[in-house]
Amino acid sequence: MNCNKKTVKDVDVRGKRVLLRCDFNVPRDKETNVITDDKRIRAAIPTISYLLENGAAVVACSHLGRPKGEWVPELSLAPVAARLSELLGKPVKMAKDVVGPDAMALAAGLKSGEIMLLENLRYHKEETKNDPEFAKKLASMADIYVSDAFGTVHRAHASTAGVAQYLPAVSGFLVEKELRVIGGALNNPERPLVAILGGSKVGDKLGVINSLLDKADTLIIGGGMAYTFVKAMGGKIGTSLCEDDRLDYARDMIAKAKERGVRFLYSQDFIAAREFSPDAEPVVISGDIPDDMMGLDIGPATRKLFCDAIRDAGTVIWNGPMGVFEFDAFAHGTEAVARAMAECKGITIIGGGDSAAAVEKFGLSDKMTHVSTGGGASLEFIEGLELPGVACLLDK
Ligand code: ADP
Ligand code: MG
Repeated sequence: MNCNKKTVKDVDVRGKRVLLRCDFNVPRDKETNVITDDKRIRAAIPTISYLLENGAAVVACSHLGRPKGEWVPELSLAPVAARLSELLGKPVKMAKDVVGPDAMALAAGLKSGEIMLLENLRYHKEETKNDPEFAKKLASMADIYVSDAFGTVHRAHASTAGVAQYLPAVSGFLVEKELRVIGGALNNPERPLVAILGGSKVGDKLGVINSLLDKADTLIIGGGMAYTFVKAMGGKIGTSLCEDDRLDYARDMIAKAKERGVRFLYSQDFIAAREFSPDAEPVVISGDIPDDMMGLDIGPATRKLFCDAIRDAGTVIWNGPMGVFEFDAFAHGTEAVARAMAECKGITIIGGGDSAAAVEKFGLSDKMTHVSTGGGASLEFIEGLELPGVACLLDK
């Protein structure tokens, strides 16, 4: 996929109406519905400010939660408009609908330097279905489309891809950075390139290994991912996570790595427990895991093996925690990898929502070159799949 896409700086936005796809899918308190973390709103400010300062009128849009085509009042974007307005220090006009008469009228009256926000895109089921009529209505409110929601670029939805059929489409600064940093790491990396996979979405992530074997110098597998490999190579894993129908695949990947001269490292020892609980007693195990135990973190020898490989890397891409880092007793592996990355002088990239949360928890986010804002999107990007929300943007 070509990552060299036009950005807001490559088009003249003065006097134009811009449809800006943001990621305002913010976490909210379950009881009060108050926004608990406004990081995603703050992250959108550079692109919004650039557009407003350069004389554009901004029609911002986003989804929030999963209303699935129903008009769920708790999932209104009105609180986001209020917070955005505070952060920008100027009014943000909140539309009462998405492509209805209120939104259309507000957009038509919007002047240069003004901003409005449409209601939750997913109030219409046409959004996720990429319905052309819905996309056309969205596009009719603007002259230019700007994509700045990297978290949804792997989806072909009306607001992420469909609208580009009707408008010149470019990236905002958030998407531009994701494409530059992750695209650069994959297509033209500083070597050695070390890729680390972990976490619990094992089935989703096994496919990535195949494409990483064509790119990486070292491939590290930890977390819940590793047990499929341990078992495939004859080890006993107790009740640990495992994809039993992918054991052959795991063996193939190990053989392919050898063929290609890729260093393939996976967990050699473990921290296991009898139950999945924060209070479970952690037991260090090298060798077979007993039948009634599950591996919940990498062991000390594996920690050293992984961290030594990471420290000398030219580029590191990490997706998926090394253990159940939410439980302190099983967070050591994840913390060690995060610290080794923080010490690494090369380019360091975090993809994956939980990996980003782990790095944040250890206070190391600022020490990384890039923490991706899109979990699923960054994974599909690394896998080498075409991202519909990127492919639809104008080439440079
Ligand atoms: P990401 O969001 O970074 O892509 P995933 O969603 O795939 O990562 O996985 C994150 C989850 O994996 C975390 O909640 C963590 O507790 C869990 N995890 C990591 N290692 C293990 C393990 N050995 N057993 C069970 N769960 C694990
Ligand atoms: Mg996750």
